[in-house]
Amino acid sequence: AQQFLWPILRLGDVVDDYERAKAAGSRVQGVLSRDPAVSDRPDASALEVTNGAVTYDDVRFAYSRETVLSEIDFAVEGGTTVGVVGPTGAGKSTLLKLLPRLYDVDDGAVRIDGQDVREVTLQSLRKSIGYVSQEPFLFYGTVAENIRYGTFDATKDDIEEAARRAQAHEFIENLPSEYDTLVGERGVKLSGGQRQRLALARTMLKDPAILVLDEATSAVDTETEAIIQDRLAEFAANRTTFVIAHRLSTVRTADRILVLDDGRVVEDGTHEALLETDGLYANFWRVQTGDIASLPQEFLERALR
Ligand code: ADP
Repeated sequence: AQQFLWPILRLGDVVDDYERAKAAGSRVQGVLSRDPAVSDRPDASALEVTNGAVTYDDVRFAYSRETVLSEIDFAVEGGTTVGVVGPTGAGKSTLLKLLPRLYDVDDGAVRIDGQDVREVTLQSLRKSIGYVSQEPFLFYGTVAENIRYGTFDATKDDIEEAARRAQAHEFIENLPSEYDTLVGERGVKLSGGQRQRLALARTMLKDPAILVLDEATSAVDTETEAIIQDRLAEFAANRTTFVIAHRLSTVRTADRILVLDDGRVVEDGTHEALLETDGLYANFWRVQTGDIASLPQEFLERALR
């Protein structure tokens, strides 16, 4: 089984948390049930990112029998920041897991600069995508190794610079052996917010063309989060970025916001345009800004169900 475990450890920054949890309980089964689905085609070529344009062409996806995403059809120009919002279970995480091919679509296609992600090598695909999830993956190794991860040519200075940008340097300096402190399973236990900041540092160091942030700062305290959000906005400026956020203020300034509900994109536009539409997004905005008195009855009924 050892040779099957290896690829999962190597591709750790994009390995699905759900699969990992499953694999932890039943490693071999977890690996075997996933690998045949997503693998390189014999004729796979390297992904060539030119603009970082991303398109979902009439995508449908199901984990098993029940369809989780349907009729997903949108095109994003390179360099755009896209917010993805919607109720829990709407399919936001699943939508973005299709991009680095943590899963493959059942119908339709996901393309980067015109190339179907299923037709390029996984290695080139995942090298181009920085994926930071809510529960980032740390392996047993030093802090420096965890930040360096796949960026083998990174120097000590590069690593420290990335840690500073991710607001991680300060807490790292307070660890028993600073950047040489062992973390991960059996290592020093880090808080959720600290793990998220290491994952952000790793991604900043990696410098990917496309960025996917899935509640990437959800465990960080509010004050630090505000600083990180600024840094992330800078970092996202010239790359295609998808941001999943519960807090709508996080995506307010996005170039475009996709609103998902029950596996479909139900609204699509800027913050202002969506408020104008006065649909699901506008109602969530009312909830989060405390303007509950003006919520429509049908929304309240649905929220209480
Ligand atoms: P969101 O990110 O909007 O909360 P998700 O994409 O996590 O939504 O989930 C969409 C739906 O797919 C939910 O019904 C969820 O229970 C289901 N789901 C998510 N991950 C898995 C999985 N690995 N296996 C089976 N079902 C899943």
